[in-house]
Amino acid sequence: MKEFHELEKKWQKKWEKDKIFKTKESGKKYYVLEMFPYPSGFGLHMGHAFNYSIGDAYARFKRLNGFNVLYPMGYDAFGLPAENAAIKDNIHPKEYTDKSIKNFINQQKRLGLSYDWDKLIKTCDPEYYKWNQWIFLKFLENGLAYRAKAPVNWCDKCGTVLANEQVEDGECWRCHSKVQVKQLEQWFLRITKYADELLNYLEKLNKWDDRIKIMQKNWIGRSEGVEIDFKLRGFNENLKVFTTRPDTLWGVSFVVMAPESPKVMELIKGTKYEDKVKEFIDKVVLEERHERTSEEKDKEGIFIGKYVINPVTNEEVPVYIANFVLLEYGTGAVMAVPAHDQRDFEFAKKYKLPIKVVIKPEEHELDASKMMRAYTQEGVIINSYKKFNGLDNFDAKEKIMDYFEEKKFGKRSVQYKLRDWLVSRQRYWGTPIPIIYCEKCGMVESEIPVLLPNDVKFTGHGNPLANHEKFHKVKCPKCKKDARRETDTMDTFFDSSWYFLRFIDNKNDKAMFDKDKIKKWMPVDTYIGGAEHAVMHLLYARFFVKAFRDMKLLNFNEPFVHLFNQGTINKDGIRMSKSKGNIVDPMETIVKYGADTLRTYLLFTGAADKTKEWDDEAIDGIYRFLKRVYSFRDKVKVKSNKKDKVLESKLNKSIREITEDMENFRFNLAISKLMQLANFMQTNKENISLKVFEDSLKKMLIMLSCFAPHICEELYEGDYVSTANWPKADEKKIDKKLEEDEAKIDTLVDDLNNIIKIVKEKDKAVSKGFVYVIPKELEVYNSGVEEISKRTNLEIQIFAVNDTKRIDPEKRAFKAKPGKPAIYLE
Ligand SMILES: [Zn+2]
Ligand SMILES: [Zn+2]
Repeated sequence: MKEFHELEKKWQKKWEKDKIFKTKESGKKYYVLEMFPYPSGFGLHMGHAFNYSIGDAYARFKRLNGFNVLYPMGYDAFGLPAENAAIKDNIHPKEYTDKSIKNFINQQKRLGLSYDWDKLIKTCDPEYYKWNQWIFLKFLENGLAYRAKAPVNWCDKCGTVLANEQVEDGECWRCHSKVQVKQLEQWFLRITKYADELLNYLEKLNKWDDRIKIMQKNWIGRSEGVEIDFKLRGFNENLKVFTTRPDTLWGVSFVVMAPESPKVMELIKGTKYEDKVKEFIDKVVLEERHERTSEEKDKEGIFIGKYVINPVTNEEVPVYIANFVLLEYGTGAVMAVPAHDQRDFEFAKKYKLPIKVVIKPEEHELDASKMMRAYTQEGVIINSYKKFNGLDNFDAKEKIMDYFEEKKFGKRSVQYKLRDWLVSRQRYWGTPIPIIYCEKCGMVESEIPVLLPNDVKFTGHGNPLANHEKFHKVKCPKCKKDARRETDTMDTFFDSSWYFLRFIDNKNDKAMFDKDKIKKWMPVDTYIGGAEHAVMHLLYARFFVKAFRDMKLLNFNEPFVHLFNQGTINKDGIRMSKSKGNIVDPMETIVKYGADTLRTYLLFTGAADKTKEWDDEAIDGIYRFLKRVYSFRDKVKVKSNKKDKVLESKLNKSIREITEDMENFRFNLAISKLMQLANFMQTNKENISLKVFEDSLKKMLIMLSCFAPHICEELYEGDYVSTANWPKADEKKIDKKLEEDEAKIDTLVDDLNNIIKIVKEKDKAVSKGFVYVIPKELEVYNSGVEEISKRTNLEIQIFAVNDTKRIDPEKRAFKAKPGKPAIYLE
């Protein structure tokens, strides 16, 4: 509708000109934030539009309720797609990103979102990423950043490291040669220092969905057990093995290391096993980790030619690597007890390794050669140290660990699945890590900012920064001799781990933020985004806040009080995606219906946190509803004020309920109540006095403006509806009885009209309606007789009947029930 487009653009311009959404200096604060987007070259997709419609509705609601709302937008602007575009299409990542951001902003403005655009941040701006560098150096000073070897996907032909998403079926996305695993010195952040706190504080996040908390808990993966030293035969060192089953140490028949463990490469170097093992590693490491470790997956492994000595038995057992062990777990090496672990059992059967029973059930013996699966339940210890034989294995656990510690075989240990966060990326489009390597002084902190050079060639060969001499050939800041600048850049999750803090003070060039401002605005009161960020982003952001707190940069424990995860939007039963070809484009939808319709529609169909199916009929329905609201600007001739009281009652009841719905993110319910209200006003407008109609309309528009702000601005008399005061329910005006009576008449009219329709289909004409009601309700129906007549086009007569009384000349019995009149038509 052309009219909607014009008025939408008109109000968007006015809002921008008058800066009505600018964050204020005073007032009770409320911080609403959506997970900021990666500005893809494709522009907004429907998931974005949905996410922002939720955030905007809530931000507007809070603003209307008198809060000083901070509602900012920014762009997670570094990342791989821009660099891939540079290699493929020869467009500079900066140019690609700037263009994409511009497009995003235009589209977001077209949606009528009430952001304070003065708060805008782009993570690829030096004004932003220099603070990444500042934080990095702070982490380094505080022992939270360090260097260590870690495996990367390596393409020999391109001479470059590949991200997992650049590896397709084990091949390089660009040149299709086989990808290898290479161990590189890389940077890590010590998130594991906060593992316990990250876990324990989950309990306090009572406005987070349990699903997310469980995912974080599993990701952190805390387990208590013991770390045992197995001596490496032929080496003067130990292999540390973690186990939660110290009671089975006497049954170990081999040890398994994670294939990506840097130690494995050391152990096989120059041996006859080297080639085969390396081939196995290359294959396994590229496999999806969930798949690799799933129970159904075939257990695969390979002997690496080494043996370790079991400290309790002095037996030599072989060392394998296998797909089911991840470096992330424990020490990256596990002991295998096939008799008492199903995974080990399957592996032992496949590779013909010994199975030794050390726990047996109370009532019978176990024969290792006849076992069909591992015995994992509680039982009696056998074939172990004499002091423990005969004891219950669960009860004896503590005693056994005491014994190990006493004998110095190992020590109690708590292990986490959570590993330190590898933040190095061997790519251009990210924050340069501010470190210089000098032969004399070693690792030296660089001055910041370290800016990304612009004159870079994107060939796909190697890291562009490593190929850029002017960038990496530098003088040592300490001794002024020739030195080399770090060419790794930071993982973009670094950028998004603190951006919510920068919004508060985005123009500060003296510090990353002003502590007092942070104190005032943080934590984020409501954070809205997809559940797919349950672990990485949300865990990293929590880690940063805790680390900042310990560096005395801020004074709270958790960044996000309330987390809301929106559902996904399906079409034809599956999630909308470009590859599936089932996309509905938000901008095309706006062209067809306007932004108000799209926004209201997205929040109307189903609960906002549930998966929903795109529904063309429902969007038409919303469009008609908004057109009805828009028609309220046409004045009508008022005939009576009969419906004033009912409308006032309905209005105030709606205000009470909608306020609650909004507070609890039940937008669909709020919208359907607004629709009912609009319908009532439309149907009864001739019988509502002008004053009551206008007052009701005004209040309805304020509420509706959370969803359809443009139409509401257009109809609202006075200043901006966007800065009005949310209406308060006047409980005195809510008249339950009156509304019930009203509902009775509505139901009767509907019933009559349904019957008339059926009768007319049989080609019979009717002109009279006889309605039989219980005596108590006679007055109610009588008072509406005129209206019923009008809405059915019948001459209506209403009678009171007792249950027993028979009336009607044709001797038919009519039985009326409370609220359910009997009907007879002529
Ligand atoms: Zn390649
Ligand atoms: Zn030096």
